[in-house]
Order: sequence, then structure tokens, then C-alpha cells
Amino acid sequence: MKDTFTHKGMRKKLVDSLRKKGITNENVLEAINRVPRHWFMDSGFLDHAYVDKAFPIAADQTISQPYTVARQTELLEVVSGDKVLEIGTGSGYQCAVLLEMGVQVYTIERQNELFKKASLFLPKIGYRPKKMVFGDGYKGLPEFAPFDGIVVTAGAPFVPKPLLAQLKIGGRLVIPVGEELQIMTVFTRKSEKEFEKTEHGEYRFVPLLGDKN
Ligand code: SAM
Repeated sequence: MKDTFTHKGMRKKLVDSLRKKGITNENVLEAINRVPRHWFMDSGFLDHAYVDKAFPIAADQTISQPYTVARQTELLEVVSGDKVLEIGTGSGYQCAVLLEMGVQVYTIERQNELFKKASLFLPKIGYRPKKMVFGDGYKGLPEFAPFDGIVVTAGAPFVPKPLLAQLKIGGRLVIPVGEELQIMTVFTRKSEKEFEKTEHGEYRFVPLLGDKN
């Protein structure tokens, strides 16, 4: 796997464009600058790796747009050492960005093909999540809860209660909520029973799949 000066130059331009679009957390921008996004896509698609667009991977799924990855990571407000659950491993790119920030990542994927691919690929390129699980993200990972942050990388038709229950006090759930179009929503756990909700604009994700689809 190569990461040449050309790749690094393209990545730097991408990071500059994310800064112009309003990403201000330098730790997030630095992490994006370090992860070779072209490794997460087939080799023929280099031209697509460093433009700010989502791109098809296997199993009808996508690697999220870099801006979306940056914004969701920024909204998590994580620091090194935090424990984060990601719902929707997909290509493993978001997971790698979190690992570059020193976060302990637990990640769940519902499509076996993607789970297998990411489980082999991430360690091969030096990224080691705490736990990679093949399963249903609606349920979270109660056996490893509570988490400082939970990030859902697919469009959720509703907010799964188990995910709220698995946050630490002060922890944040970043979740795009909606069917066709989603509102990026952050729930911050204020106490055992209280959550503060904020909204952060419209996005379009592939759906968070449930039991019936
Ligand atoms: N985070 C990924 C990345 O960096 O490439 C992007 C993922 S893609 C936009 C959404 C992912 O969520 C897909 O891989 C999809 O299979 C997965 N997914 C959908 N429903 C799920 C569920 N119920 N539990 C876990 N993963 C799910």
C-alpha cells in the first residue's frame, strides 16, 4: 500500500477544503490528514478518494463524504483515551480517523461482507479497534457500555433507546435522524434520565437497516 507525496498533497488540499467548509477542530483535521483515504477504495478510484464526496463500496453501501466524517467526529467532541462506539463500520475509514485521534473504538457492522473485509483490512494497515462486531447496531454493545461517544453512520428512522442508555453521563450520541433526509442530531447525557438535544443541519445517508430490511 503506497502513500506517496502526490497522495499526501491531495489529502492536504482536501483538509484545506474541509477547513473552508467550517470544520474547526484541528485534531479532527489532523486525523483526516493522516488517514490515506485512497486505501479504503478500490485502486481504480484514486481520483475519487480526495474529493469531498461519498463513494460506493461493496454491498450497496458507501464510504461517507469526508466533510460528513469530519463533522460527525467534531460533534462527538472526543479526546484521546475516550471510548467510542461506531454503528456502521463500512469501509473502516471513520474508524481509522477516530483511532488517529487516540480514541478506543468499538465498531459494529450489519453486512457480513463489509464486516469481514474491514476486520482483515484495518489491522493489516495498522489500525486496531478495541472490538469489531458483526451485528445489529440498533442494540449497541451493552456488554462494553458505557461510552463517551456513540456515532451512527447510517440514517436512523428513529433514535434507538439502547444507544441513549449506553452513554456515560456527559457522553454524546451523534446520529442522523430521518428517512429520506436526515437531521444530524446530538444527544448529550446530562444525568441518568436527562438528555440535551441539538440539531446540526440536513444530510443524506444510506439507511440504518433493521430487522425487516
Ligand atoms: N462509517 C463507514 C465508513 O467510514 O466507511 C460508512 C458507513 S456507510 C455510510 C453505513 C454503514 O452502516 C454501512 O456499512 C451499513 O452496512 C451499516 N449499517 C446499516 N444498518 C446497520 C445496523 N443496523 N447495524 C450496523 N451497521 C449497519
